[in-house]
Amino acid sequence: MSAPVVIIGTGLAGYNLAREFRKLDSETPLLLITADDGRSYSKPMLSTGFGKNKDADGLSMAEPGAMAEQLKAEVRTHTRISGIDAGHKRLWIGEEAVYYRDLILAWGAETVRVPIDGDGADLVFPINDLEDYARFRAAAAGKRRVLLLGAGLIGCEFANDLILGGYEVQLVAPCEQVMPTLLHPAAAAAVQAGLESLGAKFHLGPVLTRLQKVADGLEAHLSDGQVIACDVVVSAIGLRPRIDLAAAAGIQVNRGVMVDRQLKTSHANIYALGDCAEVDGLNLLYVMPLMSCARALAQTLAGNPTAVSYGPMPITVKTPVCPLVVSPPRGSEGVWTVEGQGADIKALCRSTDGQLLGYALTGAAVMEKLALNKQLPALLA
Ligand SMILES: Cc1cc2nc3c(=O)[nH]c(=O)nc-3n(C[C@H](O)[C@H](O)[C@H](O)COP(=O)(O)OP(=O)(O)OC[C@H]3O[C@@H](n4cnc5c(N)ncnc54)[C@H](O)[C@@H]3O)c2cc1C
Repeated sequence: MSAPVVIIGTGLAGYNLAREFRKLDSETPLLLITADDGRSYSKPMLSTGFGKNKDADGLSMAEPGAMAEQLKAEVRTHTRISGIDAGHKRLWIGEEAVYYRDLILAWGAETVRVPIDGDGADLVFPINDLEDYARFRAAAAGKRRVLLLGAGLIGCEFANDLILGGYEVQLVAPCEQVMPTLLHPAAAAAVQAGLESLGAKFHLGPVLTRLQKVADGLEAHLSDGQVIACDVVVSAIGLRPRIDLAAAAGIQVNRGVMVDRQLKTSHANIYALGDCAEVDGLNLLYVMPLMSCARALAQTLAGNPTAVSYGPMPITVKTPVCPLVVSPPRGSEGVWTVEGQGADIKALCRSTDGQLLGYALTGAAVMEKLALNKQLPALLA
């Protein structure tokens, strides 16, 4: 039998690529390999699960066996790739060699972890996949007070969701505003005020240095001397694209695995998409870009070389207490103007010749997103 197309990863990137490929080619052997349990789920739902009262099983959309059947593919679960030998078109799972026709890296990004002193470190939970989510739900059952590390997009979404789920939430982050890399300060203030109106408490500036178990839960010691009582900690301090195995195989990496517009890495027959990929200089950790990549790469794998293009890619942030849509400008040039007040902010970034480069809309202003999207430049034309 000829060597299969091998996809590493069964997240949204891996499974969507397989789906798109099968629309064009129903015969070529297809193998998906994943370190996790291979269940199909939509990762964005992880930060709305408490509000919707859905546990990990409730968020799972299909078992790996059903996916294998649907995709006419083999799905190997709980199987971790340990190396790539591009010269011989094979990869390693420990001692086992698997040969490929084409290899696609869709192995995502991992959560950034920082060392924390104290005996409470086992009660710090990153949530970046369904299994993390299941672990956190088990740990949080019957508890009341959650400390969130990080006030980025994911930290704010979890804050809103956990409050909807009945938890008391405090956030700690070493920044001056929420979502500092994404949001104009006026929009950030609106989101923070919205979350505060639900009862969230923000500690912006310090970091967690020590987590100590005490009789009735945990004591979180912050770098500014504050001590916060909590029961469980969620870490949402960032994601780092997985690049180590690619770098070890000699594949060019930067922030992510570097690929061109056809999603090709520096090595023949090896491609990348999703959170691990840096496409023509852009590492976007969102669903819309990976869907565009999956469609383009499926064409290429089916024999019709296709370059991906990205239109504007606005991000809808799931903080229902303060609706938010943001399209951060690429680069630092541009002049911001802010209209509105309170919860309803329209912050626009324009070039000196008036071209809209990006925006942040909160509250009632999100209604304007469709009209504004038409004025935004494409991210990869
Ligand atoms: C809480 C949360 C909410 C989000 N909300 C939104 C949103 O509202 N909108 C939006 O656009 N984006 C959102 N995102 C981002 C979006 O979900 C991700 O960009 C997307 O799911 C990434 O998919 P992926 O397939 O690239 O990676 P992943 O889903 O991380 O999949 C990686 C796969 O690779 C496997 N793997 C890793 N290493 C190995 C190895 N060595 N061997 C074998 N397998 C391996 C893993 O087991 C997994 O199957 C959110 C992210 C989070 C965490």
